[in-house]
Amino acid sequence: MTLVERFLKYVTFDTQSSELTGITPSTPGQMVFAEYLKTELEALKLEDITLDEYGYLFATLPANTDKKLPTIGFIAHMDTSPDMSGKNVKPQIIKEYDGGDIVLNKENKIVLSPVQFPELLDHKSEDLIVTDGNTLLGADDKAGIAEIISAIVYLKEHPEIKHGKIRIGFNPDEEIGEGAHKFNVEQFACDWAYTMDGGEVGELEFENFNAASAKITFKGRNVHPGYAKNKMINSIRVANQFIDMLPECEAPEHTESYEGFYHLIGIQGEVEQTTVSYIIRDHDRVKFENRKKEVERIVKYINEKYGEGTATLELRDQYYNMREKIEPVMHIIDIAFDAMKLAGVEPKVKAIRGGTDGAQLSFKGLPCPNIFAGGLNFHGRYEFVPIQSMEKAMNVIIKIAELIANK
Ligand SMILES: [Zn+2]
Repeated sequence: MTLVERFLKYVTFDTQSSELTGITPSTPGQMVFAEYLKTELEALKLEDITLDEYGYLFATLPANTDKKLPTIGFIAHMDTSPDMSGKNVKPQIIKEYDGGDIVLNKENKIVLSPVQFPELLDHKSEDLIVTDGNTLLGADDKAGIAEIISAIVYLKEHPEIKHGKIRIGFNPDEEIGEGAHKFNVEQFACDWAYTMDGGEVGELEFENFNAASAKITFKGRNVHPGYAKNKMINSIRVANQFIDMLPECEAPEHTESYEGFYHLIGIQGEVEQTTVSYIIRDHDRVKFENRKKEVERIVKYINEKYGEGTATLELRDQYYNMREKIEPVMHIIDIAFDAMKLAGVEPKVKAIRGGTDGAQLSFKGLPCPNIFAGGLNFHGRYEFVPIQSMEKAMNVIIKIAELIANK
């Protein structure tokens, strides 16, 4: 099977994950796909193939040299986004894309156009895999799976390329933020790994937000409004005062690149009690800690003003920037950089304004930056992947393996 054949086969599996079931894998289709992939890895005669009860599929391509080399891993996720159906995906291949509109679905007048999606023009004259407009495509992250397996096959067929032990890992439930939770890092046993789960060609990510959530409950004092003078405390007004004391410009709608924020995500209130919920984000750990201190400081101020116990704060860290874990092993980024250049790809380092499974894995002891898989417009009907981008990602994997053996 070729890279493209593999990809087209994988997208026929409905592996949409769900936030609602509370089990792992969150949906049975993911296990069906995992079992299929397992048979494929067996047919390829990989070693140490394991599929655990949670749907984590691991396998090994043994080293083909006696040289003492680190064991590295490549990881991709099997699920697709809960945002849109991944059932009955009917991919279409647009050969040598001409830069114009692509009619995905004539009947429903669904068009993939460079007017809305100018990134299409970066892929003129390439061959694009698109949807039929009714589902997402699932290049996120089945492109990653196809690239990893195809690279492994290439390495098997080219024994003249020396490499160390390579582990591959396919996990469920990345799209619901659970991909790393039950990932058995000890069993995977790699010195480091790469997730093949980025977007555009060249993307290389090893920074993400530090993240916390804050819930502040304001207690008021309700009194008949006719007799309320000097007695009533309206918790809605107190909450509003709190909200106003956080800098207005440090919100998602006013920030980009390395700028952090306080994001008000919910408010629920009556005179007697009002609750506000925030998420706090910053790439910089010191600034992140300061943001949390700022929230604590304002809560203290409110309590001094209205009486102790007016405001109570629940502050909880959610995840941290993986940069902290990558910096001591920066050579793993250098290798990815060099591999991209050898594969004719210009590396584009980008800080993720969110979290990533790789961050959780990094804090579990497996340093794990993210490399592009080539797809674009994830999580919807306009998702597409250029075949040439998938080939480049596959070549980056091969070059990484090769470079490590040559060091
Ligand atoms: Zn993904």
